[in-house]
Amino acid sequence: MPEECLFCKMASGEMPVAKLHDDGLVFAIRDINPRAPVHLLIVPKQHIDDARHVGDAHAPALARMFEVAARLAAGEGIAKRGYRLAFNVGEEAGMTISHLHMHLVGGRHLGAEG
Ligand SMILES: [Zn+2]
Repeated sequence: MPEECLFCKMASGEMPVAKLHDDGLVFAIRDINPRAPVHLLIVPKQHIDDARHVGDAHAPALARMFEVAARLAAGEGIAKRGYRLAFNVGEEAGMTISHLHMHLVGGRHLGAEG
């Protein structure tokens, strides 16, 4: 893992953070700059730079990310209303931490992507 990766430090426990979910493959936290009433991050524990680097070997972690997202959305009470799952890729998309993570955003009308 890259030594200065924030999400790797959270995954290992080196950096304490309030986790909404934590298992062998993924963890979830609240975004520190929420852009909606619900804004969570679902993060694979294994370091993957971004979606350009995802391959077959990551399938179990990716599937778990979607499962956890569905569970957390239900827990937040937004499963029926709808919500957005998004991956930012690279600088122009506003990716600030180069460790793959899924945004779960909801709790208000979101409008179009972009
Ligand atoms: Zn990392």
